[in-house]
Amino acid sequence: MEMYKMMTPGPTMTAPSVLQARSREFVNPDVDTDFCEEYHTLCRELAELLDTKNEVYILGGEGILALEAACASLTEPGDRVLVIDNGIFGKGFADFVTLYGGEPVLYTVDYHSPVDTEKLRDYLEGDHDFKYATVVHCDTPSGVLNDIGAICPMIKEYGILTVTDAVASMFGEEIHVDDWDIDIICGGSQKALSAPPGLAFVSVSGDAVNVMKHRRTPVASFYCNLLLFQNYYEEKWFPYTMPVSDIYGLAEAVRLVREDTDRIRRHHRIAAAVRKAVKEAGLSLYLDRGDASTVTVICVPEGIKDSEIIRIMKEKYSILIAGSFDILAGKVIRLGHMGNNANIEDVAQMLAGLTKTLEELGFTCPCDMGEVFLKELGRR
Ligand SMILES: *Cc1c(COP(=O)(O)O)cnc(C)c1O
Repeated sequence: MEMYKMMTPGPTMTAPSVLQARSREFVNPDVDTDFCEEYHTLCRELAELLDTKNEVYILGGEGILALEAACASLTEPGDRVLVIDNGIFGKGFADFVTLYGGEPVLYTVDYHSPVDTEKLRDYLEGDHDFKYATVVHCDTPSGVLNDIGAICPMIKEYGILTVTDAVASMFGEEIHVDDWDIDIICGGSQKALSAPPGLAFVSVSGDAVNVMKHRRTPVASFYCNLLLFQNYYEEKWFPYTMPVSDIYGLAEAVRLVREDTDRIRRHHRIAAAVRKAVKEAGLSLYLDRGDASTVTVICVPEGIKDSEIIRIMKEKYSILIAGSFDILAGKVIRLGHMGNNANIEDVAQMLAGLTKTLEELGFTCPCDMGEVFLKELGRR
């Protein structure tokens, strides 16, 4: 099969060694306690990368499972939950809160820039009667990066637990779970970790566990109940059969991330050069400021269809980029440069292809974005 380069903001391209690790002969994860050791080691490695002493659990399901599990495990009927909404995933947390009987209170602000921490503080001064708050680090449909390093500790000052969706930023942006008072952080395998889709992970603080343990009502889910993982290591027991091959792949992906000490800096340099090239080509970024280093979101020029850009990029240049969805459907295209895709060669190729694609569609770029990108990074 003729394969394209998958330069989407998830899934991303997977290293051959990760694919190989997944094809390894597997053990019975329920019976063979060696698996439990491997799982435990991998959880500790993830914790180290996230800079936390909290427990980390790997869940069998995509990133969304981590978000739902956090809400299912914390929410009781009638609980007020602050949902910080400056993006589509941000707003989406309200659905999980509602589903488990909570009362989401939306703090909705402009989708074109990161949340202003001081304005949020003013809001909390007026109302801070919340059990927990949800916030997204990189809200992928728009690419906005919220300053969770300032937001989460500030929320915690009011005695509110913090749930952070870092699925699209984790391993492409700096994250310090303990310093930043993040009670539950959510990640997934298919974004900047560059393993195939299929796994989610969470870190869970002592405060969050305490709240879960002292619930008046049982968690209204089995699969999403994070408390069930609490004694897995001591008891050598998992709530369900772990997807062992996926976890072998994840272990290899984590090993690669641990080796790659320049990772975050590279994401930042590449993202800055992409934005420069895009602007020089006369295109507009969706955001006024605060772009994440894992994805660049560009307004579709007048008179051109996003689906046409995506089709030509795929068919003629063998590069898959993405549109967006919900309120942003048709309005923007998204260039992924996260995880393995954050490398100069592939991103340059994507930008060169995009330059030609837009020209074919009648939008003349004053420069080749690939060239500008390379020059910006000192490669020309
Ligand atoms: C990808 C993503 C998720 C998880 O979505 P899945 O479809 O389960 O992979 C959650 N939050 C954000 C911000 C994401 O980008």
